[in-house]
Amino acid sequence: MNSSSARGTRIAHIGIAVDALAGVLPFYRDILGMPEVPLDDSDGASIVGLAAGDSLVELLHSNEPGSPIEKFLRKRGPGIHHICFGVDDLDGTLARCRDAGLRLIDQEPRMGAEGKRIAFLHPASTGGVLVELTEN
Ligand code: ZN
Repeated sequence: MNSSSARGTRIAHIGIAVDALAGVLPFYRDILGMPEVPLDDSDGASIVGLAAGDSLVELLHSNEPGSPIEKFLRKRGPGIHHICFGVDDLDGTLARCRDAGLRLIDQEPRMGAEGKRIAFLHPASTGGVLVELTEN
């Protein structure tokens, strides 16, 4: 960790599963005035990023049958899918989660849609919320 770039734990983005982008994009982009941020597809979903200050809202839309987002939508319908926390030391944080006996979805960090390393934690260990960790 480079201490000069330490930001502290923060909300990096909130992932929202949507049935149809056209139905919700105008609310965030045009009414709330959040600028679009281009993001890569990830895990069988196309992602529209919308800037909210230092954080993003990510609208997640399945583009692959059987993708995690499609399964989520079928089971729960549209809504908040996950919250992503930016941390200064991803490897150290993941190690602390493991040591604390938390259920990890990703045993090791992998590359996420924003081109940064990420890892997911299981909702069973985080108060019922799918949590993503990313590097600040
Ligand atoms: Zn995410």
